Amino acid sequence: MTLSPFTLHRPATMDEATALLDEHGDDAVFYCGGTELILLMKLGFAEYGHLIDLKQLDELHGIEDSPDELCIGAATTHRALERSELVRQRFPSFAQMEQGVANLRVRNAGTIGGNLCFSDPHSDPGTFLLAADATLTCCRGSTFRTIPMQDFILGPFQTALEPGELLTEVHVPWLPPRGGMAHIKFSFRERPAATVTCMVRVEDGRVREARVAVGSVGPIPVRATAAERLLTGVSTDNPDCSVIESAGWAAAEASGATDDLNGSAVYKRNLVRVMVRRGFKDALAEATG
Ligand SMILES: Cc1cc2nc3c(=O)[nH]c(=O)nc-3n(C[C@H](O)[C@H](O)[C@H](O)COP(=O)(O)OP(=O)(O)OC[C@H]3O[C@@H](n4cnc5c(N)ncnc54)[C@H](O)[C@@H]3O)c2cc1C
Repeated sequence: MTLSPFTLHRPATMDEATALLDEHGDDAVFYCGGTELILLMKLGFAEYGHLIDLKQLDELHGIEDSPDELCIGAATTHRALERSELVRQRFPSFAQMEQGVANLRVRNAGTIGGNLCFSDPHSDPGTFLLAADATLTCCRGSTFRTIPMQDFILGPFQTALEPGELLTEVHVPWLPPRGGMAHIKFSFRERPAATVTCMVRVEDGRVREARVAVGSVGPIPVRATAAERLLTGVSTDNPDCSVIESAGWAAAEASGATDDLNGSAVYKRNLVRVMVRRGFKDALAEATG
């Protein structure tokens, strides 16, 4: 594997980063941890003369607490999230999900923003943040906009970012009182073959709200709304196993599972069915514990 020569730019501001991209056009690309981009370039799948390093930009860093949400700079590494005391205490399922991403080397360099912007279908945060109802702040120069996670991933390696637009922040609403969330992944190798995230909110002995996101088995992560409807109303003391099983099948149907090197679509739908059952039980345990 060899890397073609390129010029490395280290802009000091977001405006400078955008100006550099405008100046060099299609021959330039943003990068952050480089765990995906440099690999692509080494394998000869991409070639750029100018790499614009976003890691230096202070605005893209930080893990902050606000009354309604956790606010994460796009250049925050998986490792920083996994180790953050704030995330571990107030959002343990998020910290656990981050701890399960890749290996230590990739988590040390790879960022949450890079993960989402690369839009590899095999993504843990992509599935988790969909179930978490996250929103993303993006900017080009001084123009900012907010994109719901639901609308961000358009396809494999394709996002709603406009040319030259940067992802700056990820906003994750705190779980409501008596809420619980669980992320389940299944992998043969480092990248997940299947990911399921379940969120529940319980009240008066019943599930009042359920969210189920399924990813890594098809082209994009999806919300399994039919499964969510089935799980809403389930008793917390004596959950009906047949309803949970039906929800698992409904999520499997919605998953868009395809045949690939990780297995057949039929096999992956079965994985999803089992993972929804486990994820729902774990989320319920957190909500009622
Ligand atoms: C061996 C291996 C195992 C992995 N296993 C997993 C796994 O188990 N689960 C999982 O979810 N992921 C996994 N990954 C993916 C990993 O999480 C991502 O590589 C990492 O998070 C990408 O971040 P980065 O900063 O390195 O991205 P980079 O490589 O720097 O960038 C990726 C892409 O995003 C763009 N980009 C980056 N930041 C921004 C920004 N702020 N705004 C606009 N565009 C931007 C770049 O232009 C580039 O196109 C694995 C990767 C490897 C190499």
